[in-house]
Amino acid sequence: MATTQTTADQSHRGTALITGASSGIGAIYADRLARRGYDLILVARNRERLDTLAGRLTSETGRSVEVVAADLARDADVRRLETLLREDASITLLVNNAGIGAAAPLLQSDVDKMEAMIALNVTALTRLTYAVAPAFVARGTGAIINIASIVAVAPELLNGVYGGSKAFVLAFTQSLQHELAASGVRVQAVLPGATRTDFWEVAGHSVDNLPQAWVMSAADMVDASLSGFDQGEVVTIPSLPEAADWQAFEAARAALGPNLSRSEPAARFKAAAA
Ligand code: NAP
Repeated sequence: MATTQTTADQSHRGTALITGASSGIGAIYADRLARRGYDLILVARNRERLDTLAGRLTSETGRSVEVVAADLARDADVRRLETLLREDASITLLVNNAGIGAAAPLLQSDVDKMEAMIALNVTALTRLTYAVAPAFVARGTGAIINIASIVAVAPELLNGVYGGSKAFVLAFTQSLQHELAASGVRVQAVLPGATRTDFWEVAGHSVDNLPQAWVMSAADMVDASLSGFDQGEVVTIPSLPEAADWQAFEAARAALGPNLSRSEPAARFKAAAA
């Protein structure tokens, strides 16, 4: 687990834009990144909470902290941020953290709410990444941290649209890594397990009703994820004791590769057809 930095004497690392910074995981990223020497652009809908956090971090770290109130489920607000990401050359890190979940089973969920979840968890994250990645590639530096979830690989645990949205974030990040590996740009997908934040109330399930052995504090989650980032991980699962277990999972996926696309159906299907 990484040690939390408590001093404000880090060298300047450019500006980190963090979505969903008004609470929970995003607010901890803001704290940690300011202490690591980043100036910040904090994005969420609740301006009052963002202003309070910005005031505290400015006085504690001396960093410049800007606030942008935006609803990332709204196309116009996303496009405003895209312009900022394309034009502000001081931005060196994008943390795509804003997201909502749901605990209700698929068939008991309102499809309009599911679509709104996709707009935030998938569409906004994709558009913001598209806005900033070309500038990072052109400069040969920069980093994108995408907050996924363990449901990306365990979609049966919570609402299936939520799991699908986070599987998208994982696959999108792995594909980005594949394309950007030689460009000098870093990408990381973070797959938190249950983390004690407002997420659970918003999703309609109290975090207090979960087995507490499953629940990590947001501070521990973010510190572990930043440690994973420092160690060069592309996928970080903060609670996973053995990195080798993830590597074995990935090796099993890679082993499918040669047989995923062939000119002939597999023999067992031909036998069934005959
Ligand atoms: P949280 O405390 O509820 O934070 C969610 C953040 O997203 C808030 O800052 C919220 O701010 C912002 N947000 C929500 N809707 C938004 C919108 N339409 N436009 C802009 N910002 C919006 O929950 P959290 O746990 O920190 O969640 C952060 C990320 O972690 C999410 O992507 C979530 O899926 C992921 N995650 C959480 C857990 C967990 O157990 N907590 C586990 C795995 C993954 P405003 O309300 O001010 O807009």
